[in-house]
Amino acid sequence: MLTTPIETNYYRTYNQYLQEKFGCRVYKVSIDGGFTCPNIDGSKGVGGCTFCDETGSSSRTNPKKTNITEQLLANIEHRRNRFKAQKFIAYFQSYTNTYSRIERLKKLYDEATTAHPDVVGLAISTRPDCVDEAKLDLIASYKSKILPYVSVEYGLQTIHNESLARVNRCETHEDFLQAYQWTVDRNLDHCIHVIIGMPGETWEHMMQTADKLAELKVNGVKIHMLVAMENTPIAQEYQAGLWESMTFETYVETCVDFIERLHPSCVIHRVAGNGHFKHVVAPKWMAGERREVMQAIDETFANRGTRQGSQCRFL
Ligand code: SF4
Repeated sequence: MLTTPIETNYYRTYNQYLQEKFGCRVYKVSIDGGFTCPNIDGSKGVGGCTFCDETGSSSRTNPKKTNITEQLLANIEHRRNRFKAQKFIAYFQSYTNTYSRIERLKKLYDEATTAHPDVVGLAISTRPDCVDEAKLDLIASYKSKILPYVSVEYGLQTIHNESLARVNRCETHEDFLQAYQWTVDRNLDHCIHVIIGMPGETWEHMMQTADKLAELKVNGVKIHMLVAMENTPIAQEYQAGLWESMTFETYVETCVDFIERLHPSCVIHRVAGNGHFKHVVAPKWMAGERREVMQAIDETFANRGTRQGSQCRFL
């Protein structure tokens, strides 16, 4: 378990960004708002993305099913004690956190943003096809009225529609471009989640995704490696020999290639770490290796003499 942030000179980290913005140690605290997902309940698809586990890709944020305020207060206490955090961002993480009626969204977001005086931000993770202008207006209203930091996090994963179909994503790159434009129109902070190692993708596919994010000049990117969690279709594919996970070395090299192509202004929220290691089927090397991955990424940048943006085509 990574307990303290690793600082790096090779890419712009989320910790650095928050420190610059707030001048103190700020941590995200995850909340489970009790949402589901249109790719699970049948309105867009059934079964979910092939890599989605029973937690909605959230690392089991609320096993006791407590309410928003209880979750926030418990997580704030934990982070304050363990990491000396001073301010907090309420982070709706599990499943699709804009997938409900707007009245219910407002009630949940209101509760999260007023549960504790040290909550200074709101972050909402969702699918690009689950926002509309009214929902983004609601989210933007917290920025103008209440909080200095409001962010929407979109699961893009890849710009390639054939790869999205391959993992049963049931949405398209065009859905993302529409949501992104509405988000930029409202001057909302945003973070785009991408996956390195999508089934069927070559190095060129992944670099094309990086180039597109650089061209759009997105605020932030969260980089995931595709991990097979237990009881998921991708784990079955792995066990049947239909999908191979990346080696440690290939992931590190590809991740550095990806970051080199991003715009230097982009905030890198994460470069490693998915899911709880106890429930990982493949690759087994990622169990508890987040710090090692981050160190290897730094060493690779040092050996190459490059950094974030070195290969950016949109400066
Ligand atoms: S969009 Fe997210 S919550 Fe929905 S099935 Fe895919 S990974 Fe799971």
